Amino acid sequence: MRKKIIAGNWKMNMTPSQAVELVNTLKPLVANEEVDVVFCVPAIDIIPAIEAAKGSNIQIGAENMYFKDNGAFTGEISPDMLVDAGVKYVIIGHSERREYFAETDETVNLKVVKAFEKGLTPIICCGESLIQREQGVTMDWIRMQIKIAFQNVTAEQAATAVIAYEPIWAIGTGKVATTEQAQEVCSGIRACIAEIYDEATAAAIRIQYGGSVSAASAPELFAQADIDGGLVGGASLKPDFGKIVNYK
Ligand code: PEP
Repeated sequence: MRKKIIAGNWKMNMTPSQAVELVNTLKPLVANEEVDVVFCVPAIDIIPAIEAAKGSNIQIGAENMYFKDNGAFTGEISPDMLVDAGVKYVIIGHSERREYFAETDETVNLKVVKAFEKGLTPIICCGESLIQREQGVTMDWIRMQIKIAFQNVTAEQAATAVIAYEPIWAIGTGKVATTEQAQEVCSGIRACIAEIYDEATAAAIRIQYGGSVSAASAPELFAQADIDGGLVGGASLKPDFGKIVNYK
């Protein structure tokens, strides 16, 4: 039985002092041990957020990392920095990073491999654009993203990964995918993992849905056979996140 994982993606919001305030506000609202609760926060907020979350069930994650250990990469954050700060999860390949910061399937793969090497759990994002959905190539596109993201990743590592299926047209638009659309793609992703590895790995890997998840849409989405929780943007900054975490 896979444990649900509900992660917030704060994006470029919250100063360090606001981050502490938000963690303190949400702490009692997300106190649900039945699910893994992760707040993925801006790099500068990681240390104060970890401090504020101490003693709670909240785990602090990162929104990105670089694929090298250290060196002349001005402005980047290394995986060792995240590990040393106490981070366990890191979002990799969010569509906003692909669109605005030129991330490719190849750099996503390098980051996924490096995250595993350092003991971090990647939350690997994939998803189609509206045009791709209309062209009927959604699953082809996502299968390609997944196959490249998992190059040089062992079955043992893959079993611990988290994949976030996030249709780009649903992110930040208030236009949530239908339950059927979300389940269909998440099931297709699991089948793709079974093809790359085996049934046991596919049964173990956790697959989230992301894209305008709200307290209203979470219960039906998270009840689907292949949806193991959500990656939540806008609503993760509000008390509503407590309702999403306690979706049952
Ligand atoms: C996201 O940032 O990953 C996301 C899904 O955002 P939102 O929930 O705001 O659509």
